[in-house]
Amino acid sequence: MTLFALPEDQIAVRDMARDFAAERIAPHALDWDARKHFPVDVLREAASLGMGGITLREEHGGSGLTRLDAALIFEALATGCPTVSAYLSIHNMAAGMIDRFGSEDQRGRWLPGLCRMDLLAAYCLTEPGAGSDAASLRTSARRNGDAYVLNGTKQFISGAGAADLYVTMVRTGEPGPRGISTLVVPAGTPGLSFGENERKMGWNAQPTRQVVFEECRVPAANRLGQEGIGFRIAMAGLDGGRLNIGACSLGGAQSALDRTLAYLAERRAFGQRLDAFQALQFRLADMATELEAARVMLYAAAASLDRGDPDATQRSAMAKRFATDTGFRVANEALQLHGGYGYLSEYGIEKIVRDLRVHQILEGTNEIMRLIVARGLVRP
Ligand SMILES: Cc1cc2nc3c(=O)[nH]c(=O)nc-3n(C[C@H](O)[C@H](O)[C@H](O)COP(=O)(O)OP(=O)(O)OC[C@H]3O[C@@H](n4cnc5c(N)ncnc54)[C@H](O)[C@@H]3O)c2cc1C
Repeated sequence: MTLFALPEDQIAVRDMARDFAAERIAPHALDWDARKHFPVDVLREAASLGMGGITLREEHGGSGLTRLDAALIFEALATGCPTVSAYLSIHNMAAGMIDRFGSEDQRGRWLPGLCRMDLLAAYCLTEPGAGSDAASLRTSARRNGDAYVLNGTKQFISGAGAADLYVTMVRTGEPGPRGISTLVVPAGTPGLSFGENERKMGWNAQPTRQVVFEECRVPAANRLGQEGIGFRIAMAGLDGGRLNIGACSLGGAQSALDRTLAYLAERRAFGQRLDAFQALQFRLADMATELEAARVMLYAAAASLDRGDPDATQRSAMAKRFATDTGFRVANEALQLHGGYGYLSEYGIEKIVRDLRVHQILEGTNEIMRLIVARGLVRP
C-alpha cells in the first residue's frame, strides 16, 4: 500500500528478503535473543543470496543494487528479527566504505570475502568519551615506518569479537574532523582486544563490545583514502546506514502490527472480538497510517541518496528520526494492545519493543538527527 509503485525487479528483491526472513530468521528470533546467539551461519546464507554487499559494485562480488533496494531488503529482513537485519546493515555499511573509498588493491583484497560474509565487518567510530561529538575522538594512530601504531578504545561496537575487519576512525592529525583517518584493522592483529559482551536491553542476537587498541601495529596500506578524510568517510557511510536502521524499525513495527491484527481478531472481551471495538480500530488505523508515512519518507530519502541530491544527508536524517520514533511508538502500542500477553516474551512483541528502542539512539541519536536537519534550515 505504498505510494511508490515499485517495479517488478524491486518487488522480487523485497519478496526474496521477506521469504528468507520468514523461513530462516523469524522461527529462531526469540531463541537467539534469549541465548544471545549471533547467527553467523544464517548471515552467510543471506550473503549467498546477495545481501552481504547489497549496494557494492559487482566487480568484487557486490550486488550493485540501489539504496532503495537496500531499504526494502532491511525492512523485509527486520520482519523476522530487527537485530539480525541491523547487524547485516552495519556490515553492509562498513563494506560499502571500503568499496567507495578503498584502492583497487584494498577492494580486491577484502570485498570478495565481505560480500560472501566469510569476512564480517565492524564500524568503529564511537569512544567512551566521544559519542554524539564523534569528531572529538581520541584513538591515536602514530605513523611508524610503513605502519600506524594505534592506542585507544572504541565503545559499543556491533559485531566486535566476532568480526574479521574493523573499519576504524583514528586520529592521525590535528584536533577536530580534519585530523581523522580510517584504517582497516584485521582481527588477530597483535594489540587488538575486546571487552565483555555488553548486557543490553535488546539487540541480543549480535554482540556489542569495546574494541581496545594497545600499541596495535596496522600497515599503512590499510588506510582508506588520504590521511585526514576519515571523518568524511565515516559520515558518508552513515547516510546509508541511517536509512537502513530506519528500515529495520519499519520492518519490526510492521511485524508487531501484523501480530496485533491477528491477536485482536481472535481475542474476545465483553462479548465480542477486540477488533470490533472502534476505539481499538482507530488505534490500529493510526499505527498503519504512521508507519506508511514513515515508509514513504524513508523510500523518498533513499531515492534521493541514490540520485546524489545535495540535501540527501538532511533527508536521510529526517527519515531516520521519523522512522525510528514511529517504529518504536507503533511497537509499544502493539504491546499495549496485547494486554498482559504483550509483556510475555513468547508473544514476541516485547522483544521487538526492546530491539527498536536502540534505533533511536545509534547511528546518531535522534537529537543529532534534528541537529543535522536544523543545520540545513537555520543559517548562521
Ligand atoms: C547497542 C549499540 C550498538 C552500537 N553500535 C555501534 C557501532 O557498531 N559502532 C559505533 O561506532 N557506535 C555504535 N554505537 C554507539 C552509538 O552510535 C552512540 O551510543 C550514539 O552515537 C550516542 O553516543 P553516546 O552514547 O556517547 O551518547 P552522548 O553523545 O553522550 O549523548 C547523551 C545524550 O545527549 C544528547 N546530546 C548530545 N549532544 C547533543 C546536542 N548537541 N544537542 C542535543 N542533544 C545532544 C544525545 O542525543 C543523548 O540523548 C552503538 C550503541 C549501542 C547502544
